[in-house]
Amino acid sequence: MIIALFGAPGAGKGTQAERLVVKRGLVQLSSGAMLRAAIAEGTELGLRAKDIIDGGDLVSDEIIVGMVEARIDDHDCAQGVILDGFPRTVTQAYALDEMLLGKGLSLDYFIQIEVDDAALFARIENRAAKTGGARADDNAATLRRRLAVYHERTAPLLPYYAKKGVLRSVDGMNSVDEVAAQIDTILG
Ligand code: AMP
Repeated sequence: MIIALFGAPGAGKGTQAERLVVKRGLVQLSSGAMLRAAIAEGTELGLRAKDIIDGGDLVSDEIIVGMVEARIDDHDCAQGVILDGFPRTVTQAYALDEMLLGKGLSLDYFIQIEVDDAALFARIENRAAKTGGARADDNAATLRRRLAVYHERTAPLLPYYAKKGVLRSVDGMNSVDEVAAQIDTILG
């Protein structure tokens, strides 16, 4: 099964993806986590991505697609994948289609976690407090930029996947458990 979790920064994609890993044995493929790992390791990719991420902009499609393509080919991904934070642009969505087509697969569900923009500020503030400010992009100013980018470049994926018939939406204003239950109902 191939699932993508979709939503604005702070919508709860990572939290729900982690639950699906435990519950369904799927592999979480988080493009943001992969980039942060590259930064921590000081790789060339990490160096190129750091300022872009810290500014709240999107890393280039070319870099992201290459990174995801390399990971999705790993043996463990054959048991099923939860995409978390990818695709984030229409170009990435096309690239994902191609990647999966080459393996005789397609995206089963594109699950949107809907959260009001206003609530996201409180959530990101909370995450920053909890992690001791581990993520340089978890602050109100950068979140404003991340949200603008989300509405401009990422939200157009919704009609794309609606047309394909794989878009499902859950109410992300609910508790973590309630959102997880809604996702469970979708996945059956
Ligand atoms: P996330 O952990 O998903 O919130 O991602 C953190 C940051 O990493 C984003 O604000 C982007 O700068 C970058 N990033 C993560 N995933 C992608 C992607 N699919 N395309 C472009 N940039 C990404």
